[in-house]
Amino acid sequence: MSDRPHSKHPDGEPWQWPEATWRGIVGRGRAGRSLRPKSWPDGARCAVAISFDADHETIPLRDGDESPMRISQGQYGARSATPRIRRLLERESVPATFFYPAVSALLHPDEVRAIATDGHEIGIHSWIHEANTTLPGNAERELTLRAAEVLTKLAGRPPVGMRTASWDFSVSTLSIIREMKLLYDSSLMADDEPYELTDGGEPTGIVELPPEWIRDDAVYYNMVRFSALRPYTPPSGVEEIFRAEFDGAWEEGGLFLLTMHPHVTGHRSRLPVLERLIKHAKAKGQGKDKCWFATHAQVAQWCKDNAAG
Ligand SMILES: [Zn+2]
Repeated sequence: MSDRPHSKHPDGEPWQWPEATWRGIVGRGRAGRSLRPKSWPDGARCAVAISFDADHETIPLRDGDESPMRISQGQYGARSATPRIRRLLERESVPATFFYPAVSALLHPDEVRAIATDGHEIGIHSWIHEANTTLPGNAERELTLRAAEVLTKLAGRPPVGMRTASWDFSVSTLSIIREMKLLYDSSLMADDEPYELTDGGEPTGIVELPPEWIRDDAVYYNMVRFSALRPYTPPSGVEEIFRAEFDGAWEEGGLFLLTMHPHVTGHRSRLPVLERLIKHAKAKGQGKDKCWFATHAQVAQWCKDNAAG
């Protein structure tokens, strides 16, 4: 990431790199063929995939921050927000994907079990929300395998998809995903529509479901007391952006993928944004104009099996 110091490259400064070096760097986790499907299930016009990254207390823990206040903000995600979110999803009969850091899942095992029982998907989201690009590759591998084991035990079935914490997909991540034979990743941003990840030019069979910071609640709502970071977009502004992203997906017959966090979006002033968005998507149309609401795993499998190309 640009705000982190880079260790010196063996080929020198970027302006000194030979062509093979810069081509090799951009070839890691590169977007290959589009997996945009010929059509969506039952002739739906577009797909809507809603996800929650259930980070809860792991953000301060990841930073070694023992502040009870900041940890309580994480606990809010489990205690107040997630029950409210589950009620909304049940009322609207909308499936979602919940990505859990293993430590968050271990702190809230009943929540993970309940969400899995509700029929939602449980996906991998690191061990303790660690930043992969700061870790040695073998540590990232060991933590990811251990996280998958925890989620398998709690959810009762092995996870098939992963979202790296903070979308911090490292140069080691793709080989870990391939070793685990996961169906999909949801961290990289080369397209609006699903695509196949390639590794040094080689197709991997791994589906990428691209997120974007634009479609992430935390970008607009986060604040840090001891910095200048404040929420600078009101819920109505966030709603306007999310709705425009959805409308664009509907117009193009594509995928609308939204990332939210219980501790960020589960508040009384903010969750209604999601409720109105779901109602807006449902009101768009019936029959061939309807939206297909699905988990990330369902979207990935459908795209893998029905890619137009
Ligand atoms: Zn996260």
